[in-house]
Amino acid sequence: MSETIFGKIIAGEIPAELLYEDDHCIAINDIAPQAPVHVLVIPKQCIPRLVDAQADDQQLLGHLLLAAGKVAEQLGVGDAFRLIINNGAGAGQTVFHLHLHIIAGREFAEGHMAG
Ligand code: AMP
Repeated sequence: MSETIFGKIIAGEIPAELLYEDDHCIAINDIAPQAPVHVLVIPKQCIPRLVDAQADDQQLLGHLLLAAGKVAEQLGVGDAFRLIINNGAGAGQTVFHLHLHIIAGREFAEGHMAG
């Protein structure tokens, strides 16, 4: 298991409220939310960055997208949410265990890629 904070949460070494869990991933509230809904979908398997994913991880990557959709629906924001993956420190990644940010509950500027 990885040594990141997310690895410790998945290992049960650090308590966290799980909003969702299945065999392959968990979802938790972000500790420093950037929007009214800010949830992290985290695979149980540690892939440090998206670019570290291999062909073998294809099924898991698809699973994470499906899980993110389910979690968004479960939270009542299935009609309007944004998914973000920060890849690398230069893009703002701070925890090197792949995760998807589900951001919702605030206005999104039309046509913007992010923010
Ligand atoms: P990133 O910058 O994409 O690596 O995202 C890491 C995210 O993890 C940040 O939004 C942090 O606020 C969040 N975070 C860090 N530690 C915890 C924690 N213990 N529980 C929940 N979220 C956390």
